[in-house]
Amino acid sequence: MPGISSLRRFLVDSVEQEPVQEVCELCATPVPPQHPHLVQVAERRMLCACGPCGFLFDNPGAGGGGYRRVPDRYLSDPEFRLTDAQWDELQIPVSMAFFLHNSAQGKVIACYPSPAGATESELGLESWATGLGAGRLAAALEPDVEALLVRRDKAGSGAAGSAEGLLVPIDACYRLVGLVKLHWRGFDGGAEAWHEIDGFFEALREQARPVPPATGPEA
Ligand SMILES: [Zn+2]
Ligand SMILES: [Zn+2]
Repeated sequence: MPGISSLRRFLVDSVEQEPVQEVCELCATPVPPQHPHLVQVAERRMLCACGPCGFLFDNPGAGGGGYRRVPDRYLSDPEFRLTDAQWDELQIPVSMAFFLHNSAQGKVIACYPSPAGATESELGLESWATGLGAGRLAAALEPDVEALLVRRDKAGSGAAGSAEGLLVPIDACYRLVGLVKLHWRGFDGGAEAWHEIDGFFEALREQARPVPPATGPEA
């Protein structure tokens, strides 16, 4: 019975997690694993795009539908500082979080990865402006499509209170959230999860360039 054997093959394939062919969510063209992403700003939804559709939205303000292309720059700031008091005020239960401007709501949103996915809380604009938002990475952030990713040193490693900040495309944060969701075990995540997280941050650092000095009154 060919019907049953092909059904069985289909089930086996699904269990083995054969990679699904991703398609452009605007024109349905199949896309390679590395492809542009767009953000639908009002709905805060991320879409996969093919090269030509991504190109359409390259310029801010171009195209319709409220889409913005996710850039592919990674910036680091060797002078990034975050005090214990600033971090405590954020009340984030894990040692990493990312922050983005939501232009539709005119708010800064703090998110952190958790086993259940991304958890978010709104940030008071004053505490943002005087804390994390005062740094050079925050000043360079593009709304909706880039995030300030912050990681605190785990207890026992390095100087207490030290933190790292990176400006990353928002799709990198989605990857981090997916990683945590997949590998996190128990209360503290477990060795495997932290191995994955360390590797993820290592790869970001390798791609990151130092943030250029602030220029002009608009920066
Ligand atoms: Zn397309
Ligand atoms: Zn995609």
